[in-house]
Amino acid sequence: MLADIQLVILEGRGCNRFLRSWAARFPNRRILNVSDFPDHVAAHRNRVFKWFRDECTAKWLIMMDDDVVPIAATDAFVQAEGDIIGAKAIAKTGSEMHPHAFSMTAVKVHRRVIEAVTPPWFAFMFTPDGVMQELCECLYFHKKATEAGFRTTQAGAVGHRFMVTVVPPGEGETRPQLLFDDEVNEGLRSARSKPAGGT
Ligand SMILES: [Zn+2]
Repeated sequence: MLADIQLVILEGRGCNRFLRSWAARFPNRRILNVSDFPDHVAAHRNRVFKWFRDECTAKWLIMMDDDVVPIAATDAFVQAEGDIIGAKAIAKTGSEMHPHAFSMTAVKVHRRVIEAVTPPWFAFMFTPDGVMQELCECLYFHKKATEAGFRTTQAGAVGHRFMVTVVPPGEGETRPQLLFDDEVNEGLRSARSKPAGGT
């Protein structure tokens, strides 16, 4: 099964050690350092898809970002079959990323999809005046693939490694509190809305 999969890790800031050692089980694996390329993440992803289509023979492509941490539930993602399989992943805000589609953080794609969908597979779409993003690269690919008749499913989950804010334990607490960015924002907002001088 693993022999049917080409694993590609997009390495920007450095592949985390958990992912690097997990990746060793894949006979076909490539850790691609994209920091040498000055262009966009959508171009990195397109380059991987083009390379996989033209130069690889594996049935499946698993593409992951370098901040993915494989967990026990990642096995279900690796073993799942279908056209496009996403893994449940949480963004740094604390919310689930694209629960009704998939996040390109970790995705498994069948060769037939990559061959059938015409490039570019990935792009960012903006409003006509260019001031707002309408589609990220995940949802752009999701749109093109579903329009081409492919189905997307979600299986398993991955850990997603990023900065959190660690708050020291309060009175009577033993463990520090870990805050996601949304929670920090919420805390700052409610602190601002309190009347000056307090009670
Ligand atoms: Zn996205």
